[in-house]
Amino acid sequence: MELHGNWRIPTEILAGAGRIAELPGRVSAAGVKRALIVTDSGVAGLPFFADIVSGLEAAGVAVAVFKEVHPDPQAADVAAGAAAYKAHAAEGIIAIGGGSGLDCGKSVGLAVSTSHPLWDFEITLPTPALDAPIPPIFAVPTTAGTGSEVGRATVVTDVEKSRKLILLHAQMMPRLVVLDPELTYGLPPFITAWTGMDALAHNLEAFYADFYHPVADGIALEGMRLVKENLLTAVNEPKNAAARMNMLAAASMGATAFQKALGAIHSLSHPIGARFHAHHGLTNAVLMPYVLAFNRPCIEAKIARAARAMDIENGFDGFLAWVLDLRAALSIPHTLEALKVTPEALDELATEAMADPNTPDNPRKAEKADMLRILQAAMAGTMANLSD
Ligand code: NAD
Repeated sequence: MELHGNWRIPTEILAGAGRIAELPGRVSAAGVKRALIVTDSGVAGLPFFADIVSGLEAAGVAVAVFKEVHPDPQAADVAAGAAAYKAHAAEGIIAIGGGSGLDCGKSVGLAVSTSHPLWDFEITLPTPALDAPIPPIFAVPTTAGTGSEVGRATVVTDVEKSRKLILLHAQMMPRLVVLDPELTYGLPPFITAWTGMDALAHNLEAFYADFYHPVADGIALEGMRLVKENLLTAVNEPKNAAARMNMLAAASMGATAFQKALGAIHSLSHPIGARFHAHHGLTNAVLMPYVLAFNRPCIEAKIARAARAMDIENGFDGFLAWVLDLRAALSIPHTLEALKVTPEALDELATEAMADPNTPDNPRKAEKADMLRILQAAMAGTMANLSD
């Protein structure tokens, strides 16, 4: 079966090797004659990047490049990108990169459409009216993890408060997505591993969240299976087109599914990432077994069902063992200590995790003492008694 397709769940997706060649024509056909590319300096230096720029120019699209996005984009990056958009008199945004480039590009679209500060669009607040519609956004992921290309949300760091905030606006949903596995061939093994575990975390938390959403459940289940079948291959064989394509699909599926909900893996991961500058997929991966163990009383039957669908024996225990084995095979550390998280920080991290918008959606109700218990377990590397 050829791994190639045109999908509209939830937005239009061109999936398959070489499909980046279709982007210039699609941008031009959308009436965008002047575009701002938003990316980071690492991605801007990759061989395919110059081809994308020249292809756009050949299609009659005047391009400016903003490549100053930090890992975990900051409000200042978004402001500088918005200034670059205005200086170029751009009519659309092409966001290229991992979650950092995509989130910054989407946020630039929001920033040029409103006079409100970015933080007014935090997910928990009522959405302010825009001054103008958000310009068309074209999204090209070059990592397979965040799924930001199919989402209405972005994550932007408030550097002053050391907080990662989730911003939401329906119009930040990209108009067109290109999932081209060839763009991910150069991803180093550790970023492939960390971002792949991010995709797993999204599918997993969406799958077991306790809300009625059979559409998301089905997508998440298949997303987890794709990670199981493809992540190690993508790490070990970087140019394996099928493994890379399937990981891009799993990432987009994770973010499609988490329109349903996420949970405590993300509530804990966000403050750790903001304070200790650890990669989001890595923090999710380290926390995953501990949160699974904590949630066990509420998710055991569902995880057993996932295990059956994924050809994993022995129900919840088998699934947990699979997660632990996968992490070890990917050289992901077992403890938060390995990410340089300090014992003195745990209390504040637990407080901040309680304030995270994902916390109320965790299937087992978590109080601050529970968050602290999970953090302490993840520091010590033991899952004993977490399910009590
Ligand atoms: P990233 O975008 O920060 O990129 C990590 C590194 O990989 C960078 O140095 C980048 O230059 C490099 N890179 C990217 N593509 C490459 C390629 N093809 N070849 C070689 N190097 C490449 O990492 P990420 O994990 O994709 O994104 C993380 C960000 O996404 C975080 O800020 C996180 O909070 C956010 N996030 C957003 C959502 C969402 O729904 N919007 C979901 C999850 C995470």
